[in-house]
Amino acid sequence: MAFPDSFVEEVRRTADIVRYISDHVSLRKTGASWKGLCPFHQEKTPSFNVRSEPPLFHCFGCGEGGDVFKFAMLHERVAFPEAVEMIARRFGVTVPENRFDGGPDRKAREEMLALLEAAAQHFSHNFWTAPGTRAREYLLGRGFKKETLERIRAGASPDSWDDLLGALRKKFAPPLLLQAGLILERQDKSGHYDRFRNRAIFPILNEGGKVVAFGARALDGSEPKYLNSPETPVYQKGRTLYGLSWAKDAVRREGRIVLVEGYLDVARAIEAGVAEVAATCGTALTTNHARLLRRFTENVVMNFDQDEAGQKASTRSAEALLEESLQVRVVELPAGEDPDSYLKTAGADAYRQRLTAAPVYMEWLVRRAAGEHEVGTPQGKAAYFNTLLPALLRIESAVERAAWLPLIVASGGLDERAAEQELRRAIAAKRSSVHVPASPAHEAPAQARTGLLPAEKWLLALMLEGRAGVEDALDMLHDVDLQGLRSEEVLRAAKGLAAGGRAVTPEALADTVGEESRRMLREIAVDGPPTTGVTPGDCARELKCRPLKARMAEIQRDLGRASGPDLEALLEEKLQLKRQMAGL
Ligand SMILES: [Zn+2]
Repeated sequence: MAFPDSFVEEVRRTADIVRYISDHVSLRKTGASWKGLCPFHQEKTPSFNVRSEPPLFHCFGCGEGGDVFKFAMLHERVAFPEAVEMIARRFGVTVPENRFDGGPDRKAREEMLALLEAAAQHFSHNFWTAPGTRAREYLLGRGFKKETLERIRAGASPDSWDDLLGALRKKFAPPLLLQAGLILERQDKSGHYDRFRNRAIFPILNEGGKVVAFGARALDGSEPKYLNSPETPVYQKGRTLYGLSWAKDAVRREGRIVLVEGYLDVARAIEAGVAEVAATCGTALTTNHARLLRRFTENVVMNFDQDEAGQKASTRSAEALLEESLQVRVVELPAGEDPDSYLKTAGADAYRQRLTAAPVYMEWLVRRAAGEHEVGTPQGKAAYFNTLLPALLRIESAVERAAWLPLIVASGGLDERAAEQELRRAIAAKRSSVHVPASPAHEAPAQARTGLLPAEKWLLALMLEGRAGVEDALDMLHDVDLQGLRSEEVLRAAKGLAAGGRAVTPEALADTVGEESRRMLREIAVDGPPTTGVTPGDCARELKCRPLKARMAEIQRDLGRASGPDLEALLEEKLQLKRQMAGL
């Protein structure tokens, strides 16, 4: 490590998070916490919360949160050691002089990479010997060849609390294993235990071929089915694609990359000789993914699952790719097939034909929209055209935009002149709309990526963990507070369970909600609970505040234009809203 742990702990103890953040953000005390305007996204009413006990911050607007070091890293855009040093100096803690060549950052990274490589070797050794029998039988049973499993460095963790810990603790210190996400601390702080137990393990490599994380599939039906390493100094989900290091050469050769959803899709493609394949592994594609891909190719072929959730992921991911000016195609497989199953039954040649025949994104979108709306009716035609407008407007070239119109008109049975007029009107409206420049630290708000508001996501994560206070939080929320939330179905089901005196467990929830909600719960379980000190009650209050905040934003906008009695009425309403929010 760059600094001894004892030093980092001393800085953590000495630092006053409220004072440190107050240097940069104007904070006001409300109840047990401090509130202010978030420095990480643009807002007019405060969603940014800081607390001194435990010393953590979180933002309900953009979902950022963490400890004082995390704040400094985000705000000053520095790595962990630099953040520790800045805070040490701010609070007068003497910084030890132990700089190495290449800086503390590089040494710490190398140490962690060495640990992760050792862990991968241990898991792999397990896989091919007695402790890995179950994982080996599972993957061989799915028809994978030995060479493929060796190529992807398949591993196994036995049903044990300290298999990895016991094997590595002679060479690596537990704090490093903890930081690398390989072990967890026992609740009573009496020691540590392995994160991955009784699972088939897939090492995740960075594009340079170094092991940076692990994905692990349950072998005993336990949830979550797939468990991932948390983010660490060497692993950022939004910048990593599974299999990219193996695919690089083929991507350059074939001039395209195929994006699939899962580890086994990648393994099957490699086995079939379709080498230009990488996987997103359950996270939505980000702008950073798109930039990473651009370094290798401009052509992306997406082949996500055919279910509703997979199709939605396709749309979201395509937007991120198009923003970075990549060419996007979407593969269509027969209903019920994924790349793994299709390659297994139909073979590599048939799959390659599907890849080559894949329609470009816009064409796929038109076909999908035509299937989703009743284009036989006037309302259906309008809805169909409206779903396509945003994608059309994103196309910069007027020539390209015009070229799509005949297909859109034909697929929806539209009147061509009316469609042209609508498009022209939408373009004019887009040009005249005020462009609000984003702050440099601003990326897409959290809800744009997952479809969930941070308050929903955190509440659900705390619920899946069985944290105290969840029942009270559910009790605070009324039907009107849940309306329109992406998690509405799950939260209603949870309320129902709690009201009936039943425990709100992941299993009970999964039994009462539909597939899309189940998938959402799995995604949340994979990400784990928030590390921002946010409580179920905080989340419930934020959700109740939401409509009030929206109205407040409207009032603030209107205040500039109002006068006389209107102005007085607005000021009065603003005061009422403030009282209501304070009362929550
Ligand atoms: Zn924020």
